[in-house]
Amino acid sequence: MNVIDPRTAIVLLSAMSALMALVLYALKRSYPASIGGLGSWAQALAVIVAGGILAASRGQLPEVFTTMVPNFLLGWGVYGLYAGSQRFHGVAPDSLRWLGIVGAVVLATAWFTWGDPDYAARLRLMVALMAVVFSLHAAFIIRRGLGSFSRGLVATVLVCIAAVQVVRLASTFVWPPGNTILDASALHAFFIATFSVSVLLFSVGAVLMAGDRLRAELEQLATRDSLTNTLTRRYMDEACAAELERSRRSGQPLAFLMMDLDHFKAVNDTHGHQVGDRVLVEFAAKVQRQLRKSDLLGRFGGEEFALVLPNTSREAALQVAERIRAACVPQAGEVGCTVSIGLTLGQPENDTLDKLLARADAALYQAKNTGRNRVAVG
Ligand code: GH3
Ligand code: MG
Ligand code: MG
Repeated sequence: MNVIDPRTAIVLLSAMSALMALVLYALKRSYPASIGGLGSWAQALAVIVAGGILAASRGQLPEVFTTMVPNFLLGWGVYGLYAGSQRFHGVAPDSLRWLGIVGAVVLATAWFTWGDPDYAARLRLMVALMAVVFSLHAAFIIRRGLGSFSRGLVATVLVCIAAVQVVRLASTFVWPPGNTILDASALHAFFIATFSVSVLLFSVGAVLMAGDRLRAELEQLATRDSLTNTLTRRYMDEACAAELERSRRSGQPLAFLMMDLDHFKAVNDTHGHQVGDRVLVEFAAKVQRQLRKSDLLGRFGGEEFALVLPNTSREAALQVAERIRAACVPQAGEVGCTVSIGLTLGQPENDTLDKLLARADAALYQAKNTGRNRVAVG
């Protein structure tokens, strides 16, 4: 049967993988360092490509460069993809141990090349190594969740390629393989093609996963305050306007609170800025414990926070405000601040975000002026 010449297949697929290595390397240079693994994936692809090209050069180079060296490069590259995924998930790979494992397998293949020549044994060793590494890799990705298209793609590719290795291993016992990697049997070409296509698809999935991660990090950056993990001013402005509009349409009440810590500057002056930061973090956590899921807590400035309570009446909002105020009174010996709160309700007619903020600010000012550690309504 006339199938694709394996040598041509290897060269073509290697060229595509080399391009993907470049893409991953370019991403590594442009993405933030917090997105790990890109460099390892790029390197691993390059190593696999080098191994493939050497293996395809059989007859043109000394035998060691077309058997042992490519075997090592393939094994090391396939492990490198796994190490990249580990780095991507913040796990330090155990590279030294795997260098030993891959090295030992390759030395064993060397024995079956020169000591006791046996192509089937060589093939089985390498395929078993691949099956193990791809299976561990698949399990690693699956354990960390399959919540997106990119993760689903990567996991599917890894499960498939691991399964193909197992089938290949079994097939060597049913149909003894030919003598070299360039044996043009249909089965052999199929295995080479599935391996190469899988590596290619894996790298596409890796690029997509990194893109997803970048998007999530940017979203976090734009919507969450890095110190207190409350919403940013920018996010709150948009969310407040949207909630105000929704409340107008639905007729449901909306409450808005402006909160400012009392004499917070004194905490900084007495205990230092770091303790001040911790007081802010603890304040945000205390408030959050009083809230429902739909409530929005944001940091508007240094020690000033805003709170939107959708579908909340004046009485209910007053209760929430009072609970927050009471929760913030420092215990004996605790470094902290009381809080002053200005509360206002969305007006059914002609209300705007600016007017809402102005009323809440005026109420807060009143709370400050009448002795602090209190709630005022405006
Ligand atoms: P008042 O009761 O009138 O609100 O007094 P106050 O001291 O809380 O208010 P003031 O506005 O005078 O001081 C706020 C201080 O908050 C000043 C500023 O140095 C500090 N601050 C702002 N942002 C941060 C921050 O991120 N961390 C820390 N530790 N301090 C901050
Ligand atoms: Mg203050
Ligand atoms: Mg202030």
